[in-house]
Amino acid sequence: MKENIIPHDYQISKTDRNNLNEHNSFLLWFTGLSGSGKSTIANVVEQKLHKKGIKTYILDGDNIRNGINSDLTFTPEDRTENIRRIAEIANLMIDSGIVVLAAFVSPYKKDRENIKNIVKDGNFVEVFINTSIEECERRDVKGLYEKARKGEIKNMTGISAPYEAPENPDIKINTEQETVEQAVSQIIDYITPKLQLNNE
Ligand code: ADP
Repeated sequence: MKENIIPHDYQISKTDRNNLNEHNSFLLWFTGLSGSGKSTIANVVEQKLHKKGIKTYILDGDNIRNGINSDLTFTPEDRTENIRRIAEIANLMIDSGIVVLAAFVSPYKKDRENIKNIVKDGNFVEVFINTSIEECERRDVKGLYEKARKGEIKNMTGISAPYEAPENPDIKINTEQETVEQAVSQIIDYITPKLQLNNE
C-alpha cells in the first residue's frame, strides 16, 4: 500500500510559513513526573510567547488522551504509541509554522529519542522538569498519588512504573529551587535565538 502513496509537490514550504510568521517553528517538549510542573510552566511560557506575537499551541493529556489517543492505556506499549502519535502531530504543526509546547510525562528514554527522529533533532528542545517524587506526591495536584498508593491506579509513574530521567536535556528545571517565573525566564532565554529567522 505504502508504495502507492506518492507525495504531492506542494509549493508552500515550512520556510515560507516561517517567513510569513516571522519566526521559526519547533517543539518544546516538557518531560517529568505527574505534578512536577510541566503544564504550569508551559502555560506561562505560552502566554509570554503569545504576547510577543509568536504562534503557539499546547499539546497535553487533556486534548490528546481525551481525543485522538482515547483508545490508549498506560501500559508500556500504549505509552510508546501515545508518544509516537503526539510526535507525528507535533511534526505537522511544526511544518505548519507553529511553536508546539508538549507536556507529557513521557517516562521512557527510547520514546523521547524517537520524537527526535520524527521531528528531526534541530526541531526538538527537551525540557526536563526535575521535581522529586516526594515533592510531586506532597503536591498531589490531581490526587493520583494517593490513589496509586491505595492500589487504585496501576502503572503510576514514580510509584509502580519507572521514570527514566533525561541525561542531557537542553533545559533542566528544578522546581524545588526555582520559582515558576525563574523557570520560564530560563526557557525563554534558551529559545529566543532559536525563534529568529536568520538563525537557521
Ligand atoms: P504536571 O503538568 O507536570 O503534571 P502541574 O503543572 O499540573 O504538573 O502541577 C504542578 C504543581 O506544582 C502546580 O500546582 C504548581 O502550582 C506547583 N508548583 C509549585 N512550585 C512550582 C514551580 N516552581 N514550578 C512549577 N510548578 C510549581
